[in-house]
Amino acid sequence: MMKLRKALFPGSFDPITLGHIEIVKRGSKLFDKVVVAIGVNSKKKYFFSLEERLRMLRECFADIENVEVGSYNGLTVDFARENGIQFLLRGLRNASDLNYEQPIAIINAHMYPELETVYLASMPNTTHLSSSLVREVIKYKGVLEGLVPNSVIEAVKRMRMS
Ligand code: ADP
Repeated sequence: MMKLRKALFPGSFDPITLGHIEIVKRGSKLFDKVVVAIGVNSKKKYFFSLEERLRMLRECFADIENVEVGSYNGLTVDFARENGIQFLLRGLRNASDLNYEQPIAIINAHMYPELETVYLASMPNTTHLSSSLVREVIKYKGVLEGLVPNSVIEAVKRMRMS
């Protein structure tokens, strides 16, 4: 039997944007399975709790059969190895993203040579989207439609009510 081709799409997803979703959807057509996983950095302060971010991810991908959601502590390569994942999926918005990603991919390959990093360039309708800009829009109560999925809009409403 052919080995399943599994890809990991790691990130903070604080929060997930339509840009992330586009990459995951395209990735889900290339690979047998895509694991979207939140890498937890205990020193970093997040806007949304891990639980909220996981909930938003689960809601987004509930209807895509071969997408799984999870989280991990520690090195991305270790999580990939432990889960039999052979591909690391990354989205590229521009040259700065590539400059940022390249050394990480080289160090990852040094630690886990069997892990292949695969890049998908974003489409023009999502190239401008980033979690950090979305957080600004949330802080100043701007319009979120067209930037993030409904699961994020609902989470923001809950946050404001509590
Ligand atoms: P980080 O933990 O580095 O902040 P993110 O959660 O922002 O990670 O992003 C995870 C992945 O999604 C990265 O590969 C990043 O380049 C990609 N990505 C983020 N926004 C977009 C977008 N609008 N279009 C395509 N890829 C994106």
